Amino acid sequence: MSSESAASTKPQVGIGACLVGHAVRYSGDAKKRSHVLEKLAETMDLIPLCPEVAIGLPVPREPIRIVENNEGIYVKDSETQTIEYAQPLRNFANEMTAKHREFAGYVFVKGSPSCGYERVKRYNDEGNALANTGVGVYAQQIMDNDPLLPVEENGRLHDPNLRENFVRRVHAYHEWKQLNKVGDIPTLHQLSQFYSRYKYLVMAHSVTHYKKIGRLLSKPDRENPQQQADHFIELLMTALKCSATRKGYSNALSHIKGYLKRDISSTERISFDQLIDQYRTGEVPLIVPVKLLNHYFNTYPNDYISQQTFLMDNVIPAKAGI
Ligand code: SF4
Repeated sequence: MSSESAASTKPQVGIGACLVGHAVRYSGDAKKRSHVLEKLAETMDLIPLCPEVAIGLPVPREPIRIVENNEGIYVKDSETQTIEYAQPLRNFANEMTAKHREFAGYVFVKGSPSCGYERVKRYNDEGNALANTGVGVYAQQIMDNDPLLPVEENGRLHDPNLRENFVRRVHAYHEWKQLNKVGDIPTLHQLSQFYSRYKYLVMAHSVTHYKKIGRLLSKPDRENPQQQADHFIELLMTALKCSATRKGYSNALSHIKGYLKRDISSTERISFDQLIDQYRTGEVPLIVPVKLLNHYFNTYPNDYISQQTFLMDNVIPAKAGI
């Protein structure tokens, strides 16, 4: 599938049903959908799922908690710690992974023993609190089933940098899943074509991964093309997960500017270099040099640069002010 048609469908993203107004919480309350989730829903299809209700728990219900001992991690009723729910939650996660193979991301729910992404409360067999380092049992199983799946938690999505990072990973993973939908192993040509759109974004996020992907795609692995494809997407998703820095963005901006060398004057080149320096030192936000680059490429179109995700609106953390 071409990248154009891949980009034409919205990514499907799982989300805790209680975050989008479903009255499924243990207390019976419904939470209002936050403006952040409203924003996400503009470019993604949010698919609500409530594992606790799905395994048969009523609304309202007694709260449950994570209980840990030497034998493992459990989810039990908070009152008596005698009824066990972890295995049904894991089974439901396995069912959802099999059912929603097209998921390109998941938004988990802060603090939940089922859907929490990090720092969930844990207790020992005696009911004493342990360090808050738990992960919701359902969430953990979803992540184990697809370790590359972009995931975030509702609270963390209020941080503009984390949100933008999540958005760009979801779109990349969605395009990857679309490419793989036909069932054939992507050829080296397809991998290179796919990567060509992400090259400068990867450079901004991680030069180490940029170099590794360059080496990986320098020749075909004729004995094991599947391994090459798997390694490629693993490197790409890991790179995008790294935080992009001003240094990384400046590096990518300088490289992209190189495509204008025959088009803009030396004075324009010098002022653009100064603008990159101003961005590098924090005097102007990223959107300023990016807008100027877009202006130049509108005047002097370049097919290769026009498809770069780096210059597209949905991946530029303009509001984050990186
Ligand atoms: S946190 Fe998960 S299990 Fe709890 S109400 Fe929300 S969706 Fe349901």
